[in-house]
Amino acid sequence: MINSINSAAELIAQADALIVAAGAGMGVDSGLPDFRGNEGFWKAYPALGRARLDFSSIASPHAFRDDSALAWGFYGHRLALYRATVPHPGFALLRAWGERTEHGASVFTSNVDGQFQLAGFDPQRVLECHGSIHHLQCMRPCGTDIWRADGFVPDVDADACRLRNAPPACPHCGGLARPNILMFGDGEWLERRAAAQEARMQAWLARVRRPVVVELGAGTAIPSVRHFSHSIVQRHGGRLVRINPREPQVPGARDVGIAMGALDGLQAIAAAMEQR
Ligand SMILES: [Zn+2]
Repeated sequence: MINSINSAAELIAQADALIVAAGAGMGVDSGLPDFRGNEGFWKAYPALGRARLDFSSIASPHAFRDDSALAWGFYGHRLALYRATVPHPGFALLRAWGERTEHGASVFTSNVDGQFQLAGFDPQRVLECHGSIHHLQCMRPCGTDIWRADGFVPDVDADACRLRNAPPACPHCGGLARPNILMFGDGEWLERRAAAQEARMQAWLARVRRPVVVELGAGTAIPSVRHFSHSIVQRHGGRLVRINPREPQVPGARDVGIAMGALDGLQAIAAAMEQR
């Protein structure tokens, strides 16, 4: 373990660009609930447990059509939670490491919580592959507009998981608005915003020469983040530091796996950097 932590510190010190690739495990150390498995999910949302609604059932356009107060109860609660969450100190470590590199840091995340922007990362350097809870779109949708959710303050009955106030409306057709998040069985997600983020990421990647990917809390169950990390290694000559308490295995001998949680792993690397 000490060897891999020292190797990670070395890789980060030698890189000309830092790429942060984050999955759900990144948020756990900020106190955010883990939706993996029904047990953890229903502990966070007991009303959904009583209704035997799992994550994939409530996180779907069907749930908004079927019972918009319930679906917005779930998403409204999360929106308020993410707005109020203080990102854990690992975010600041990553920012500091990025600032020391020639090209700075970029972020690829499957999280919709907006925590990287909240932690002070440049919004122009964040790619949210599953969208963002801080942005809304029309349910139908009547057009391709995506707008910020700032004006919507959800009032949620947490015991019942129901929205008490009016849900947000589409400014164009007046119909129900929903989060601009890629849900399960979702054919209506508007990807224009994520596509623009992707284009900016690709333009930045074309300039970097020795990127290091620090991947955090990204499991094999939702593989989009791991696919991205591997593409940086394969197509951009990057090196990979994978921090994951349960699945730390890495594909190549030059990559580094650290079997720790996100914050513990980042703090261990920071300590190793100070010893260098
Ligand atoms: Zn509309």
